[in-house]
Formats: sequence, C-alpha cells, structure tokens
Amino acid sequence: MTKNQIKNRIDELRKLINKYDYEYYVLNKPSISDYEYDQIFNQLLVLEKEYPEFITSDSPTQRVGSDITNEFKQIKHEVPMLSLANTYSEDELLDFDRRCKEGLPKNEIPEYVCELKIDGVSVSLKYANGKFLYAATRGDGTTGEDITNNVKTIRAVPLSIYDEKFKEIDFEVRGEIYIEKEAFLKWNAERELKGEKTFANPRNTASGTIKLLDPNEVAKRPLQIFLYYLLTDNIELESQFVNLNKMIELGFRVNPNFQLCKNINEVLEYCKKWEKERDNLPYEIDGVVVKVNSIKQQKILGSIARSPRWAVAFKFPAKQTKTKLLKITWQV
Ligand code: NAD
Repeated sequence: MTKNQIKNRIDELRKLINKYDYEYYVLNKPSISDYEYDQIFNQLLVLEKEYPEFITSDSPTQRVGSDITNEFKQIKHEVPMLSLANTYSEDELLDFDRRCKEGLPKNEIPEYVCELKIDGVSVSLKYANGKFLYAATRGDGTTGEDITNNVKTIRAVPLSIYDEKFKEIDFEVRGEIYIEKEAFLKWNAERELKGEKTFANPRNTASGTIKLLDPNEVAKRPLQIFLYYLLTDNIELESQFVNLNKMIELGFRVNPNFQLCKNINEVLEYCKKWEKERDNLPYEIDGVVVKVNSIKQQKILGSIARSPRWAVAFKFPAKQTKTKLLKITWQV
C-alpha cells in the first residue's frame, strides 16, 4: 500500500467517524452498532500510530465526541471531561498495566479500582456552599451544555450537602445518567399504547431525554444516576476508592459493585466475573472501567488528547450480530 493510499484511507475513516459521531451524539440515531464503530475507530488509531505524520489536530482520535447543539447555555468545564481508551482483551489490559508501571517511579506499584461501565450519558454536577449549583453535559469535553433543570428532576440528585467540610467548599461530581432496563421497557410500552414514538434502547433514551427543552417532559421519564468521580481543589483527595466511599457518605448514588484490586490479575478476575453477570443487573453495562487508585499516581500519569493514561475501559464483546462487520473490516 502506497503512502498516498494510506492517507486516503485515513481521510475516508475520519469522514465515516465524523458522520457516525454526528448521528450518535447529536441526532441520537446511530446507524451502526457500538462494536462496529469501535472497530472503525480502532483502524484509524492503528493507522495513525503507524503513520504519525498523518495525525492532524482535527482527527476524531484527538478529541472527545461532541453533543453540543446550541440549544442550551454553554458551560466550560474546569477540568476537561475526557473519554476513555478502550481495551477488548486480556492482553490489552496487561499492556495498560505495563504502561502505568512504566509511567510511574520504580517504587510505585499501582493499585486499581474497577467499576462497572454504565451504559448511559456522562454528566457533571457542580456544588458550592452546600448547594447544587448546575449540571452540564460532557459536550466536546472542554465545554458542555447547561442541563440543570433537567437533572433536578432526578430525585437521587441531592440539592443540599450537609457534610461539615463539604458544605463549605466548591466541588464537582461526575457520573452517568441512565435508565433501568425494566423501567425502559415499561415506559416504551406505555408510549406504544398511546401511539407515541418508541425508543431503541435505554442509553439512547437517556441521552435524548437530558437534552429535552421541557423539564416537565423529562420528569415523566425514568432517569437514574450513578456518580463515579469526585473533584475539588479545596481538599486533598487521596484515592478513587476513598472518593467513591466519600460520595456515598455525602449522599450521592454510587454503584455498589466497585472493587479495589491490588494487581492486574484481580482486575482480570473482576472483568470476567461481570462479563458473566451483566445480564443479571437491572441496568445495562458495556464493560468495566479500570482506574489507577492513587490520585497522586493519576497526576503523574496525566492524559493524552482524548483520554487519561490512568484509566481504561474494558469493553465486553458486543451482543449484536457481526454480519455487517464483514463489509467494513479493512486490513492494514
Ligand atoms: P466510552 O463510552 O467508550 O467511555 C467513556 C465514558 O464511559 C465516559 O465518558 C462515561 O460517560 C462512561 N462511564 C460509564 N461508567 C463509568 C465509570 N464507572 N467511570 C468512568 N466513566 C464511566 O466513550 P465515549 O467517548 O462516551 O463514547 C465513545 C463510544 O461511544 C464509542 O466507543 C462507541 O462505542 C460509542 N459510539 C458509537 C457510535 C455509533 O455510531 N454506534 C458513534 C459514536 C460513539
């Protein structure tokens, strides 16, 4: 394959990804499965890794997919809301472990926190002086949209914080808005009965719902939330494990299935366990998120363009049929 052909293929992949991003993030109407999308994205990553001279700042690999529509007021994130690099196999998780160890001083062995990867939409909640201030979507990672009134309809979101320390300071929590499987089926069936448009899946519905212009309509839909990040400059944060427990103490809804893992083997066990168990959960998960536990180590490792180096998503194999995949698979 000539360099010219490589460059053309890269352009072609970028155009495809931009089209799929628009359908997924803005229109909420994906035309291919996540698995197929991830395959195409990965082809682009592989090519750009092999031919870094073709990387451009506007490549989809250099940014977080954007849901900005200009219908809501925009809010700039104090800390960018990044995406996560995906892994699909044990080997790739071992690679992640190796890269973390290489990036840390010799005597620092990373521990990991494993969490379920909730299949919803990410949201940031800002609190100041003990009060809920606003909620924002991830947007393009740098700037999100103000969805405060819609998020207020979720009863699990505390409007006041009573903790002695935290009620005095500014802090942010981040998490995932989602819809439980059964609530989704019931709600969709009711719509069908009323002759209203039905929805494809819970994730799609959650993502369309948080961007509705009428909070009264949002309040009728069964949105739920799990929080998984705590951010503040005002208090020294020690670890992701402590942060998750602190959020529970503050009154936030945290998924209870997180686990502190001493090494990558324990991480692999966790991934295997939840891949088997996923169908027994009342909500959809599409993988596991593995995070370096120590915040100090997270800071040492830092981030690249669209994802932190200290966290990774382990994606479960897709449940969709793979027939369409044959048409788009392309060998480098
Ligand atoms: P992602 O879904 O692969 O992973 C990052 C996201 O995981 C975070 O932003 C957060 O919202 C979520 N998350 C859930 N639980 C979490 C936890 N415990 N801790 C931290 N984060 C957690 O990345 P993305 O950037 O949101 O979306 C990209 C993915 O979307 C693609 O890999 C693809 O699967 C899908 N996509 C599909 C299409 C399509 O056309 N089908 C198009 C664009 C994107």
